[in-house]
Formats: sequence, structure tokens, C-alpha cells
Amino acid sequence: MAKLIDFGVLMTYRKFKADQIFTGTALRTGGEVLITRQDGQVEAIVPAADAGDEVQELTGILSPGFVNAHCHLELSHMKGRIPEGTGMVDFLLGVMKQRNFPREEVLQAISDAEEAMWNSGIVAVGDICNTPDTIPQKSKGRLRYRNFVETMGFIPATAPQRFAFSKGVYDQFEAAMPGTNSMVPHAPYSVSPVLLQLIADLPGNELISIHNQESAAEAEFLQYGTGDMRRLYDFLGIDLSFYHPPATTSPRAMLPAFLPSQSILLVHDVHTSQSDLEWMEKNRQILPQIFLCLCPNANNYIGNGLPDIDGLRKGPFVILTGTDSLSSNHQLNILEEIKTIASAHPRIPMAELLQWATINGARALGLDAEIGSFEPGKKPGIVLIENASEGLSNAGSRRIL
Ligand SMILES: [Zn+2]
Repeated sequence: MAKLIDFGVLMTYRKFKADQIFTGTALRTGGEVLITRQDGQVEAIVPAADAGDEVQELTGILSPGFVNAHCHLELSHMKGRIPEGTGMVDFLLGVMKQRNFPREEVLQAISDAEEAMWNSGIVAVGDICNTPDTIPQKSKGRLRYRNFVETMGFIPATAPQRFAFSKGVYDQFEAAMPGTNSMVPHAPYSVSPVLLQLIADLPGNELISIHNQESAAEAEFLQYGTGDMRRLYDFLGIDLSFYHPPATTSPRAMLPAFLPSQSILLVHDVHTSQSDLEWMEKNRQILPQIFLCLCPNANNYIGNGLPDIDGLRKGPFVILTGTDSLSSNHQLNILEEIKTIASAHPRIPMAELLQWATINGARALGLDAEIGSFEPGKKPGIVLIENASEGLSNAGSRRIL
């Protein structure tokens, strides 16, 4: 192909060379140079001989910016406040019992957590929101956000009020960051079928996220109506005599409420079985488009165990990664998530894990035209992954553009 641009002449380009370049889909080792405009818009990846002068030489892997597809930035002040390994129900009770933090502390923690995400190479976030607390920080535009305004309400009769309350939060996000927001259900065990349908039927609500099959307690509660999850409702003073469990798994209970024109991030998937995956695949034509979002460090923190990741990889569904919140994680760092997966599954190729961390997350959030890979015209951010020549176990990441 003819060389269209002489990168040696124009000084407005930035040029980066490292040991390897992860393009968003493949790991390239040919000593090539990534060329961007000053503002980070990708121009090309070219052989070093064609790159001209002033190439910045780095040690490590260049990667497009990471996507954190599941976070709760507004809970950042909870860092270190919930003990590890409590199990799902005590974790949820712990979060609910910790209230009334000074607003200044909440806002400072949001700002600090976003800064840490930026530094570690995260460029976009799928963020669960129960309050408008994160709007001021997000409005600064440092990271891209898809805001998932979360709705909970287990008593069917209160569904209209619960929906209206969350719609009020959603409207504040729409006013501040138009076109980047959805209303979403919290989890199959915390949202009544009536409320679920109100969310599914909201016009323009095309991108959904839900906590799915996170714990054994959830599975038992959906299947039989029994188990530890009842303790949560005892604490909330909710009489469960009305509850008839759907007697099936979470995806089968929830997904039929949505349309094929919608997309849904199923977050956690710790108890997603081969049978669930086969059911989802068989019914693809009538179900929303499904993305599987893994948050392994949160699963370990709470004590839920890890998903059957090899099993999930066999299915046709796109896999991506998230950090969950600082109430159930030590950091909001996507490299740390894929490091945990790599140590449990050393045979998964690094390029595949990096794809989960970049382009797959961008696709799930509908941002793949702009970020997720080093394709010309995109502005994905540039991350340097260091100390990864022997695998990911000692690797670290930092944003360089
Ligand atoms: Zn979550």
C-alpha cells in the first residue's frame, strides 16, 4: 500500500514504540510504532523504518485504554469498611447499615477513585448510580461514562413509586449528561416482575445492566424461595408471604422481560451454568443482546467464588470486565481484574484477556466507534503495561496519553 502520510515531515504527530502493541484484538511484536495526533486520535501503526524521528521509546506493552464495564463510583467512600469473606447477604447488610457519611467525604472519595482509574488506564466506565452524587465529577469529562440508574423494589405494590423515585435520579443524569443514561434493575432477587417490566418498557432504554447469578443465596431464593436471602428481607421488615419464586435460574426469570432490540450486561455470572448458556443461545432471537461482565476481585472479596470462566468462554457471548465498587474491592483497576483471571486460568491467552479489558467493554457500552482499539480515527487513550514479559502476575499499568 502506498504511504499516504510522511510521518517524518509533520511535527504534529506523537509516536510511541514499545516491546509489543496490543491493537485491541491482537498482540503485535514486530517493533512497530503507534502514531497519533497530538490529541491522541490514532493515525496508524507503521514499521519503525517509516515512522520518522522523535519516537518515544517505552518498555512494555502499549494497549488502548481499558473499559471498566461495572462500577459504583458513588460508593467509593466505603473503601475498607466492609470486611472480606462475609458472603453475599452479610455484605449487602453491611452496605445498607453504613449510612450518613459527610457529603464532603463522599465527593472527595469519588474524585480520588476517578483519578486512580484514570492513572491505571481506564478510559470509560459503566457506572451504577442510585444517587446523583457522581454528577459533578463526571461532568468534568475526564472519563466517559454510561450511567446505569439502578432501581430496587421487591414489593410489587410499590413498583410505581420505586420507579418514579429512580426516574427522578435518571432525569438529573439526563439533564447533566444527555444520551448516556439508562434505568436498570438491581438484581433478580430485589426487583419485582412489575418493576422489571416498567424498566424494560421505558422508551429509549436500550442498554441495561443487572447483577446476575452473583451468589448461591440468589440461586436458592429464585429456585425455591428459601435460604440466606430471606435474612435480608427480615432485616428490611418485608413480609415474604406474597412471594412465589419463579423456580428457575436468574437469566430465565429476567431476560424474557426485554426485547431483542435491547442489550444487557449480565454482571458477575458466578452461578451461570452450561445449561443457562445453552438456553440463552437457543433463544437468542427473542432475547436482548447478552454481554457477560466478570468482576472476579469483587467475587473473591465477598466470598462468592469465581465464575466458570472456561465454560463462559465456550459460549457465543462477548466477555468483558468490571471492578464493582470499592465496598467490595481494594482498587478500581481493570488490569488487576484480568490478573486475577490469568492466575486462576493461566492458559487463557493474554491477548484474549486484554480484549475483554478493552474492545469488548467498549462494544458492550456502545463506545466501540470511539475507543477500545488502535484503529485510525479512534481516540482510545494509550496505556503502558509494564513488567508483563513473563505473564501478567507482576504487571502494572499506567496511562501515558
Ligand atoms: Zn455491582
